[in-house]
Amino acid sequence: MFEAIISLCLSLHPESCRDQLIPGYEAPSQSQCAASLAGRPPDISLPTGVFANGAPECQAVGQALEFTEIAPGVFAHLGRIAEPSSENAGDAANLGFIIGAERVAVIDTGSARWMGEAIWRAVRQHTNRPVTDVILTHMHPDHVLGASVFTEAGARVHGHAGLDRALADRRSNYLESFERLIGSQAFIGTKVARVTHPVTTETVIDLGGRRLVLRPWSLAHSPTDLTVLDEVNGTLFAGDLVFDRHVPTLDGSVRGWLRVLDELSLIAASHVVPGHGGPVLDWPQGAENTRRYLETLARDTRAAIVRGERLGEAVLHIAQDEAAQWQLFESYNPRNATVAFTELEWE
Ligand SMILES: [Zn+2]
Repeated sequence: MFEAIISLCLSLHPESCRDQLIPGYEAPSQSQCAASLAGRPPDISLPTGVFANGAPECQAVGQALEFTEIAPGVFAHLGRIAEPSSENAGDAANLGFIIGAERVAVIDTGSARWMGEAIWRAVRQHTNRPVTDVILTHMHPDHVLGASVFTEAGARVHGHAGLDRALADRRSNYLESFERLIGSQAFIGTKVARVTHPVTTETVIDLGGRRLVLRPWSLAHSPTDLTVLDEVNGTLFAGDLVFDRHVPTLDGSVRGWLRVLDELSLIAASHVVPGHGGPVLDWPQGAENTRRYLETLARDTRAAIVRGERLGEAVLHIAQDEAAQWQLFESYNPRNATVAFTELEWE
């Protein structure tokens, strides 16, 4: 198979380039791909700071991201249990796609444009049906920064009603920090997509014989959490409302998250894809470790506040009982304790 690409280079470092996929020109031969490029020239809008090194051209299809079919038509990618880095190029969150009889939906898109492209290729290995819907489970950059390849191919973008604003407020911060973390070459072409379909209440997407139920949540892991339930075989994509192995990260409310877990556990799913770890766990048991961690975090934080401890001393011991249960504990637990302390001292 062949695909269309355009070579993009950094204006400040012209020797640093990346081939960016132009979706929708896949063909079995190079000449067929080139003919469709000539007949239907792509409309390419470049992000600032890059230039095109030559015209679009066709070459053999690049690397796809690895996905496992966890239920018929439901695919999940296991991100590394790691912080986004140059070593993993930002491949550090779980992603998914679901194939219906007529259309395909992608759930979360990774940390950079290259990841969206690698998801696109994985979808194309399984189906030629159009990718009409991208669903973003929340605002964190490891889940949303690969979306632009799908919007260029005509997909709608669904997210929590607060997502577009949250991304607009954090756009430059997210882009700068992730470019630094994963490296500017791997990050070439990355843009923040707009949310075209804000989800304010439970919403159904029909992929053709297959309904996905999107549900937005109040402040929990983040202010913009949204879950996706595939009704056909009961797969729940929980985003970062559920963690496995990777310590939970709190960017919202510990009380809110525990309340949301209560409601979430009532959803009649058979299994869950967490935002990190897994990538597939039984439901509702798959949320038990996340709940236990959050309960410990809240309990220890309240006890520290009652004892009159200062934040600086409290973060040294809050939730330490959980240290052996999780990876990346030292990286995130102090931040979680800080968020919880700030929230609970005003209870
Ligand atoms: Zn997150």
